[in-house]
Amino acid sequence: MSRKEIAIIGGGPSAMMAADILSSIYNVTIYEKEKVIGQKFLVAGKGGFNLTNSLVGNELAAQYSPQEFMQDAILSFDSKSLREWFSYLGIETFVGTSGRVFPVKGIKPAEVLNKIKEKLLSQNVKIKQGYEFVGFDDDRNTKIYYGGKSKSILADYYIFALGGASWSITGSDGKWKKYFKDIGVNIIPFEASNCGVNIKWDDHIIENHAGKPLKNISVTVGETTRKGEAVITNYGLEGNVIYPLIPKIRELLKRESKAEIVIDFKPDNSSDDLFKKVNNRISSKNYGEAFNLRREQLSIIKNFSTKEEFLSTDSFIKKIEGLTISVESLRDIEEAISTVGGIDINELNKDFSLKKYPNIYCIGEMVNWDAPTGGFLLQGAFSMGYTCANSVIHSVTD
Ligand SMILES: Cc1cc2nc3c(=O)[nH]c(=O)nc-3n(C[C@H](O)[C@H](O)[C@H](O)COP(=O)(O)OP(=O)(O)OC[C@H]3O[C@@H](n4cnc5c(N)ncnc54)[C@H](O)[C@@H]3O)c2cc1C
Repeated sequence: MSRKEIAIIGGGPSAMMAADILSSIYNVTIYEKEKVIGQKFLVAGKGGFNLTNSLVGNELAAQYSPQEFMQDAILSFDSKSLREWFSYLGIETFVGTSGRVFPVKGIKPAEVLNKIKEKLLSQNVKIKQGYEFVGFDDDRNTKIYYGGKSKSILADYYIFALGGASWSITGSDGKWKKYFKDIGVNIIPFEASNCGVNIKWDDHIIENHAGKPLKNISVTVGETTRKGEAVITNYGLEGNVIYPLIPKIRELLKRESKAEIVIDFKPDNSSDDLFKKVNNRISSKNYGEAFNLRREQLSIIKNFSTKEEFLSTDSFIKKIEGLTISVESLRDIEEAISTVGGIDINELNKDFSLKKYPNIYCIGEMVNWDAPTGGFLLQGAFSMGYTCANSVIHSVTD
C-alpha cells in the first residue's frame, strides 16, 4: 500500500505539530504562502513568548471558550505534554510569573523555531515556502498559487492551519475565508481578542502618562474581575489585566453599544484600611502621599470624577476602590494578539475535520475559539495539531 499524502496548508505552530506526528508514518508537505514558516511564532517570541501555561488538565481546559469544543484536544495534549515535546527538541522550559511557561534563559525564539524545523526536515517533511492557497477546485482539491500560476494539489488529507486575522505582516491575513465560503463552510466574521481598549483620555494623561504601567490593580466588567497590570497608552489601556476581559467587553459593546470597566487601584486594601490612612478629611494635594498613589493614578481618577467627588475625601476613597471608565471600542483587529471568528465550530467534528468534507481538517486560530494570553493560545494551536494528526492516523488504520 502506498504511503498516504498529507497536505498541510499554513506553517504556524498548529501545522508544525500536525506535521511532526504525521511525518513518522506518511508523506507530509507544508505549503506556506510567506517566504518562511512560523512568522507569527517569532512575533510571539518578541513579546512574552509564553509557550504554554503551567495549568494542566481540567484547569487548563477551563481557560478555553467554548470549553466543550476545545476540552478533548487540550486534555489529550496538555501543557505537560507540550513541555515534554519541547524538552525532547532540546528546549527546556521554566514556569515564570502567573504560571506562564518560557524557554529557559538564553534560548531565543528563532532557536526554538529552528529546532522544530530541523526535526520536521529530518522526518522528510517537505516545506514549500511561497506557496499560497487560493481556493478549491471542482473536486474539492486544494488550489495552490506558485510561480505565477495556480495548480491543484492532490492529497489524501488536507489540514488547514491558516491562522487568524491580526498582524497580517506575519502572513496570517484571514483572506482565505472566501474560499471556504465558496464550498459552503460558514465563516464567523473576525474580531479582535486579547487587544487594547480605546478610552477617551484627557490630553494631560496622553502627554504625561502614556507608557506608564498601572501595577497591581483589579478591573471588573459586569461580574468578572481580574487582577494584574495595565499599561496607559495614548489610545486607552492594554495589558494582562485587560485581555481576559475582552470577551465581556466585546459582548457589551455589541449588545448595549457601550461598555464600562471598573478599576480598583488598591485591591488589597478594604475601605476601612483606606479610611484609616486618613483620620479625617485631608486636602486633595496630599492624596498621593496619604494613599500611596502615583501621579498617573491620581490623574486618571481626576479624569473620571467630578470636581466635588475628587475634593471630598470620602468620595475620593470610593473612586480609588471603584473608578468607572467608559470603553469607546476595542482596538483594531490588525493590532490584536489574537482574533476570534473564522471557521464556525458547528462546521467541525470533534477531531476538527469538516462535517461536510471529512478529509479536510481546520486547526489553530483560523477556528472560532478564544483563550486569554499567558501561553494558552500557543497551547491551543499545538493541541489542535496533535488531535487532528491522531485522528488522521486512526481514520487511515480503521
Ligand atoms: C504580538 C503577539 C504576541 C503573541 N504572544 C503569544 C504568547 O506569548 N503566547 C501564546 O500562547 N500566544 C501568543 N501569540 C498568539 C500565537 O502566536 C498565535 O495564536 C499562534 O501563532 C496561532 O498559531 P496557528 O498555527 O493557528 O497560526 P499562525 O501562527 O497564525 O500561522 C498561520 C500560517 O498560515 C499562513 N497562511 C495564511 N494564509 C495562507 C494561504 N492562503 N496560503 C498558505 N499559507 C497561508 C500564514 O502565513 C502563517 O504562517 C501572540 C501573537 C501576537 C501577534
